[in-house]
Amino acid sequence: MPIAFRLRAEGFFYGDSEGSVKDDRTTATALRCKECGRTGELTAAYVCDFCFGPLEVVYDMERIAARVSRESIAAGPPSLWRYRDFLPCAPDDPTAGLPTGMTPLLRAPRLGEALGLKDVWIKNDAANPTHSFKDRVVSVALQKAKELGFTTAACASTGNLANSVAAHASAHGLDSYVFVPADLEEQKIVATAVYGTTLLAVGGTYDDVNRLCMELASDRPWAFVNVNVRPYYSEGSKTLAYEVAEQLGWTLPDRCIVPIASGSLYTKIRRGFDELVETGLVDEPGRRPIMNGAQAAGCGPVAAAYEAGLDFVAPVHPTTIAKSLAIGNPADGVFALEAAHTTGGGIDAVSEEEIVEGIELLAKTTGIFTETAGGVTTAVLTKLARRGDIDPGERVVVYITGDGLKTLDAVASRVERHPIEPTVSSFEDAIGESRLIA
Ligand SMILES: *Cc1c(COP(=O)(O)O)cnc(C)c1O
Ligand SMILES: [Zn+2]
Repeated sequence: MPIAFRLRAEGFFYGDSEGSVKDDRTTATALRCKECGRTGELTAAYVCDFCFGPLEVVYDMERIAARVSRESIAAGPPSLWRYRDFLPCAPDDPTAGLPTGMTPLLRAPRLGEALGLKDVWIKNDAANPTHSFKDRVVSVALQKAKELGFTTAACASTGNLANSVAAHASAHGLDSYVFVPADLEEQKIVATAVYGTTLLAVGGTYDDVNRLCMELASDRPWAFVNVNVRPYYSEGSKTLAYEVAEQLGWTLPDRCIVPIASGSLYTKIRRGFDELVETGLVDEPGRRPIMNGAQAAGCGPVAAAYEAGLDFVAPVHPTTIAKSLAIGNPADGVFALEAAHTTGGGIDAVSEEEIVEGIELLAKTTGIFTETAGGVTTAVLTKLARRGDIDPGERVVVYITGDGLKTLDAVASRVERHPIEPTVSSFEDAIGESRLIA
């Protein structure tokens, strides 16, 4: 077991010396170990003291069912806090901070037509405040961090999480420290530093950065959103299930295509759908969306395990343009495999070329420019459609998790320019048009 886990386990109560927060704002009741099932208080902890397994939040589902209705949600704020009864925390003022969520779900008839599908939808999460789905997990993590008494937020990131933590910390007036690999692209560094965070450029890979953060989290009273408050952070992803169901008139899609980095988003969307059925908000007992996971072949450890029929994930060294998905040792990989099997879905990997084609296909058929992660999901949609895995009438939701302006380099070399002189004849020559008036 890595030393960082031991250190963490010994420093269990940082930020919450009082123990758990038992108030009426949340229906969450405990943290539970996903391996051995032991439960503990709702503190800043992420590994089981007993077996070092990952922890997750458990809820009083009956209490949620008694509290929520379609009407109570509709009367809530136009942000993810409308689903606060399903979350481990809730702000007193839901308009505080950066408004996150309630991003557009749009029909994509031209994309569907290109692939022989009749009912394709795009969930465009690039429409969040810092242009990626990470705003959801960060909103929830920082709200919980504040409730636990933290005044400083931190994270290890390769880009999207850095942007989001820096921005949300500013909005809440929290101090923040963001750790990134030193060779990160300039635009991501600028788009993070501008919020006034303390940006640490670490000489090493993302895995080195992450290990450093685990060590720092063990003896500093800071909320590392993807380390010591990770169980709360990952709950934010469930809102991508609630929103889609609400936007579809409280019905479930037939199939979802979701990108996988650590596997948290994918497994939590599936959990979100389960909770909607369990609490009666969606009246489709027994039915669940088929969950398809999407990875880049250059970093596809979960897809490789699925393909090989394994129930464990062997770590890989990432080499892909889909950097926001480039986690070689995914924390929730085995849970993602389980979700793929039990929902009748699967996990596919696509090549670098297919990712770029996915970005272009989405842009040309829907008007949405996605970062490489959305190229991965669009390419997996294409692959499944060509393979005949999708019934043409199925209602398919493709999750687009980030904005194309974040990864311009991926498509920059494919841009066709027509250099012309500022004259009509030069223009006509360039596009092969003859003069109408001689
Ligand atoms: C982080 C991220 C994901 C998925 O992350 P998980 O670790 O699997 O939850 C997907 N898309 C984008 C753009 C991301 O930044
Ligand atoms: Zn355990």
